[in-house]
Amino acid sequence: MIVRIWGTRGSYPVARAEMLRYGGNTTCVEVRVGDSCIILDAGTGLRQLGEALGREPNPPTTINMLITHTHWDHIIGFPFFAPIFSPQNRLEIYGLQRTQSSLRKTIANALSDPLMPIGLEDLRADLSFHEIHEGLEFQLDSRVRVCTARANHPYRALAYRLESDGATLVFIPDTGPFHTVLFGDERIEWTGKPTANTDDDLLALATMRARIINLARGADWLIYDSQFTDEQYARFPHWGHSSASQAREIAEEAGVGQLLLFHHDPHHTDTQIDAMLEEQRTLCRSDMIITAAYEGMELRKGDLP
Ligand SMILES: [Zn+2]
Ligand SMILES: [Zn+2]
Repeated sequence: MIVRIWGTRGSYPVARAEMLRYGGNTTCVEVRVGDSCIILDAGTGLRQLGEALGREPNPPTTINMLITHTHWDHIIGFPFFAPIFSPQNRLEIYGLQRTQSSLRKTIANALSDPLMPIGLEDLRADLSFHEIHEGLEFQLDSRVRVCTARANHPYRALAYRLESDGATLVFIPDTGPFHTVLFGDERIEWTGKPTANTDDDLLALATMRARIINLARGADWLIYDSQFTDEQYARFPHWGHSSASQAREIAEEAGVGQLLLFHHDPHHTDTQIDAMLEEQRTLCRSDMIITAAYEGMELRKGDLP
């Protein structure tokens, strides 16, 4: 498995010079196993990934795209992904099933006048949309097994585990911790203090947390929401994002080999992310490796293309 990071930033892209070492593009990760090409999220990093695929002598013509959720920072690169304009390409797009609107409709709305001069019908690639749900397990191209779980994020988001021969990657870019407000299909307004959870809510939170730990269990790499410092988290506990400490605690409990801090706050400079990383390395009680994901980062293990 080869994992390449094309976008690490959360919320919106940034272009300030003091932030470019970790990168300004929003979330996008490429995974290659054998002939399989899997893309996790379609943030602005997707544009450069599309250009890189175009430079390959034999670029993949089938691309599997796994979307965690359709907040802007996770889909805004989609209209600028060059392979969607080539008729020889097939895109299999997976995302969370919702009651309000389908995945296809959400993408089609983003690609419509007056937001964009082109529409879904102008794309030349063959697009298929698959609406999936948490707890699902399925096979991609016979070499990669995918499992899903629910993340604690406004309007829900998916977490993905990808397993192939000899390597496992878990991708959870957006999630809050599991001890405070439960986010469901309705937005819960923050009133200045944690919502008084009912017994049902507390059980749902505990179940969600256990499933996330289970999803991440023993993974070689865990890419996890680390948007906040603990002090920031205390001010924005209702945003559905974790602090770097909360990410480390989950990773240590799940016994992962390497934690990659991810979904960097758009206000954080490289120096601040360095400091967050150092703090977590100091606090870590196991031999787990902790790094902060950066654009251009590449990881390799097991079955390589
Ligand atoms: Zn996000
Ligand atoms: Zn989000």
